[in-house]
Amino acid sequence: MSPKIAIIGAGPGGLTLASILIRNGISPTVFEHDAFPEARTQGGSLDLHPGTGQEALAACGLTPQFEKYARYGDQDFTLGDKYGNRVMEIKDKDVGRPEIDRGQLRQILLDSIPKGVIKWNHHLVAATEDSLQFRDHIEVGWDLIVGADGAWSKIRPLCCYVTPYYTGISAFRMMLTQASTKHAALSELVGKGTYYSLGEDDGLALAYQRMDNDMISVYAFGRRPEDWIQKSGIDVNDHNAIRAALKKDYTHWDPKLCAVFDECEDNISFQSLYMLPVGLRWPAHKKMALIGDAAHLMTPFAGEGVNLAMTDALDLANAIISKPNDIAAAIAEFQPRMWERAKIAGEVAWENAMARFEPGALVRSKRRFQRRLESQGNLQLLELADRKNNEHISILLEHV
Ligand SMILES: Cc1cc2nc3c(=O)[nH]c(=O)nc-3n(C[C@H](O)[C@H](O)[C@H](O)COP(=O)(O)OP(=O)(O)OC[C@H]3O[C@@H](n4cnc5c(N)ncnc54)[C@H](O)[C@@H]3O)c2cc1C
Repeated sequence: MSPKIAIIGAGPGGLTLASILIRNGISPTVFEHDAFPEARTQGGSLDLHPGTGQEALAACGLTPQFEKYARYGDQDFTLGDKYGNRVMEIKDKDVGRPEIDRGQLRQILLDSIPKGVIKWNHHLVAATEDSLQFRDHIEVGWDLIVGADGAWSKIRPLCCYVTPYYTGISAFRMMLTQASTKHAALSELVGKGTYYSLGEDDGLALAYQRMDNDMISVYAFGRRPEDWIQKSGIDVNDHNAIRAALKKDYTHWDPKLCAVFDECEDNISFQSLYMLPVGLRWPAHKKMALIGDAAHLMTPFAGEGVNLAMTDALDLANAIISKPNDIAAAIAEFQPRMWERAKIAGEVAWENAMARFEPGALVRSKRRFQRRLESQGNLQLLELADRKNNEHISILLEHV
């Protein structure tokens, strides 16, 4: 008989787990806080990596659907400074990490899951190992409960007693639509991929990301105190107030880079970034497991979060499929692989979070990207010729 499995959270981790299990004859129940699939926008673009996110999608049988949306031509990367100078550029290279919009990835996964499996509008309030307490009812009788419920997991406290802490970095997220026509200059600046500008000594960064359908997603990251937004007096629902605050913060930046503050849609959101300690682990529970951000929340600066969540789902699904009648053994088998992977990515994510927001950030970041590229062998780093004419950049590059 199939084990009775509850998955909390229909994010990339929970949906991948449900999809693989269903494909292998095990039907779980997914409980999701959102009232319905389109209840909120899903965010920007992300790259799925061959050995992790792409492999998990293959286990869902979704490679053809992925290929339909995968943008192999959007893998360009530019690193620049706050004055608009470009320090490093990778162009027209297939680095094996095609981009896909989060919303498209989610839709592919949702389409692979039969109706009725996902219980929308189910916000988990509390849990014990025997019960799931929702706002208006309790669900019992589970062989396995999986916390795929992200940063503020309600399942995590049953596995370990560690809570996320503030990383010192927060972000405003903005969107540009009809970029090539309505925002032609910014669209040209971003090109086909990601454009990252680091402010170094001011602790600020701007990250532009090309999305599908002529959209661009932009993050304005900054080193700020945890209570900064409350103390600033900025009303997070007042987009013009946010625009004014950002323009003040970035007043010493190249106006071309900052044009987004005026040009973006009226949908700016603010997010403080939290993390769990790198290397966090706990004694295996006999019927509770965590995957994705619930298990190893980290800063986004390694670009691995979704890939890790999906790989955790793949590993846990495989363990359950091979031991459907021994869930405790399946959990014990799966966890060490997840922890090992998350520790490596978590160290990179933390180091990148430090390295991108301090003096010398451009040199260090460039060096890190360079090492990453060299380790992939088939890539060339293209330094821009015009940097020779730029004293600031030339000095920085001497240290590389
Ligand atoms: C600014 C930023 C940029 C990022 N960029 C990238 C990137 O480029 N590439 C990348 O790989 N990763 C990126 N990440 C990380 C990535 O978003 C996460 O690691 C990933 O979404 C984790 O997936 P998950 O399924 O574990 O959790 P989530 O995506 O957080 O999904 C959790 C789900 O659980 C639901 N839920 C939460 N609480 C409850 C509850 N109590 N009851 C019921 N349901 C609940 C939520 O509604 C949600 O649907 C970024 C993160 C941030 C903050």
